[in-house]
Amino acid sequence: MKILISSNNQDKIKEIRNIFQLPGIELITLDKFPNAPEVIEDGNTLYDNALKKASMLAEFTGLPTISDDTGLEVDALGGKPGVYSSRFAGENASYDDNVEKLIREIMPFPKEKRTARFRTVAVFYQPDMVIAEEGVIEGMVLTERRGSGGFGYDPIFYIPEKGKTFAELDHDEKNAISHRGQAFNRLYKSLQRQLASIIPNS
Ligand code: IMP
Repeated sequence: MKILISSNNQDKIKEIRNIFQLPGIELITLDKFPNAPEVIEDGNTLYDNALKKASMLAEFTGLPTISDDTGLEVDALGGKPGVYSSRFAGENASYDDNVEKLIREIMPFPKEKRTARFRTVAVFYQPDMVIAEEGVIEGMVLTERRGSGGFGYDPIFYIPEKGKTFAELDHDEKNAISHRGQAFNRLYKSLQRQLASIIPNS
């Protein structure tokens, strides 16, 4: 079964490829469709954005499509940046810009108030079937970067149970516990139940 990943974010694609390395599924990326429409992520929720990304590209390509939308919810900031995580520091903000802004905003709060979580909504879309699954991981925002792996906010997202930031974990360690890992593993299991005749049991 061919499934399109509706994302241009190479960091995400790498993670999704790792997580979705499963029998019976061939993952296709958007570079095969140079004329694919750009999806504006203007939804109010992670689900709205994930559904829009998956449905627009599924309609365009005719392929069943998966997508995800992810947000970092910082308790001291009332859940911000949340659905706006990619443009926290402005429309064309880099990962570094966003990390710097978050460090500045969290700094005035004492350590114990710097709790946060990553939330991912992963969606599978084909015209007659939509499946959505969520993954959440709890952690703390640090005021100094640690580690060189991962992407985005990973260097300042600390997981107390591991004693490490996401950027200090290797790919497999991150995917085993991450918001995205959880959401896509759930999505795969749901898909397997729905399409038992197409996807063999793994
Ligand atoms: P998106 O809208 O799902 O592409 O993600 C929003 C933003 O959240 C991205 O631009 C990254 O800055 C950040 N982000 C998403 N996933 C992760 C992750 O796994 N680790 C760190 N940051 C992430």
